Amino acid sequence: MIKKPFFGYATANFKYELLSKAAAAPASLPIPSQAVFLVPDPEDRGPSGFDYQVGTQVETGQLLKARDGGSPGIYSTVTGTVIDTSVYLGNYGQKFLSLTVQCQQEDSWSEDFAGALEKDRARALVSFMGAAPGAPDVSRLVDPDTAIDTVVVLGADPDLLVETNLTVLKGQLNTVARGIELIREVFGPETVLVVAPGDNLQNVDSHFPARAVAVPLAYPSAQPLMIMHKVLKRFPAQDKTISQLGVCFIKAEAAASLATALSTGRLPLKKLITVIDKQGRKKLVKARMGTPIGDVLQHFGIEAGAGDRIIMGGPMAGTAIYSLAQPVTAETDALMIQDKSQIVRSSDYPCINCGDCVRNCPADIQINMLVRFLEAGQYQEAANMYDLYGCVECGLCSFVCPSRIPILQYIKLAKFELERSLPAEEDNA
Ligand code: SF4
Ligand code: SF4
Repeated sequence: MIKKPFFGYATANFKYELLSKAAAAPASLPIPSQAVFLVPDPEDRGPSGFDYQVGTQVETGQLLKARDGGSPGIYSTVTGTVIDTSVYLGNYGQKFLSLTVQCQQEDSWSEDFAGALEKDRARALVSFMGAAPGAPDVSRLVDPDTAIDTVVVLGADPDLLVETNLTVLKGQLNTVARGIELIREVFGPETVLVVAPGDNLQNVDSHFPARAVAVPLAYPSAQPLMIMHKVLKRFPAQDKTISQLGVCFIKAEAAASLATALSTGRLPLKKLITVIDKQGRKKLVKARMGTPIGDVLQHFGIEAGAGDRIIMGGPMAGTAIYSLAQPVTAETDALMIQDKSQIVRSSDYPCINCGDCVRNCPADIQINMLVRFLEAGQYQEAANMYDLYGCVECGLCSFVCPSRIPILQYIKLAKFELERSLPAEEDNA
């Protein structure tokens, strides 16, 4: 269990854990009775922009996307009948079409992926794999605007307590290695690195057709932005995203998904998840993407009562969710549940200039000043004057802040709003 430092002037000295040798094999959940798929709808088409009315049949592996095909889709992991469609708003107002499917207990496989593979392997991977376990966003590897030269395979999870990708890396060495070979073969980046903290890569590094890089065990050294700064020495900014700097991060589970899809011709259906219960105990489980989170918690007998908090992700950088019907997605590496008595709530207390955030920030940001601009919604000033883009999104500042200011959430919102404002400004230019 993570505790706040008791004395003032302390720094939060967290370390990533090495994978416990005695870790039990992941539990495996059956096909759920109902599955939920969140299909991206950035153009806000709503249900009428899709061909999935109540009563529509879907097959396992079928690509679900808007009728005009304008935005990326996801694939169904079950066979069944659509019983509900609705608009779903995700983090920061991102729009999705939510499809609820009553599942059959046997799969009838769509030929969508096999057919696409036959025509063009790279294009098939781009169309389908963003929705595969670990969400390998290979579209960036073929985007002519980004010119990716370096792929970083994340051999461990960036957040604390989460063991999903390290488990895949160590448990499926050959599959991950094959995934890396395929990335080289299909997309041809100049450099591929496998990165993990501590000595997690010891004795396994020779398996990978890539350079193994050990980062320190101290949190947040495995955060992608930290790797950008400390390992690659490339520094993201408002007009220089990670991919515009020529780098693509792919999780170990995502590399394994690529290998599985290409070797079998079938899309992988199950996501590995680290479940962290109210006592901080960890369990691993595999569930089909689309499985409601309530089903996963129920499998372990974890009750989410009124006032408890469910977090998608780890304790430092995860996001609270508010419905047990929300599904497991390609990116659900962890689910954490906190009892209401353990929750440290954010507040609207003012900053008291204690400096704890600054002392703990691995990016040396003057957060006590930054937060004033963020609270006032002055995001551009925050970027220009107080190094908003130097932030590696580790959450240490929020964790130590005695005023309980949700600093990380402010930072993420500011980056999102600035990114969203860029095309509008270009249009107006
Ligand atoms: S500003 Fe906060 S979230 Fe960002 S790097 Fe510093 S401590 Fe981490
Ligand atoms: S933001 Fe919080 S931690 Fe940072 S100086 Fe202000 S009160 Fe202290």
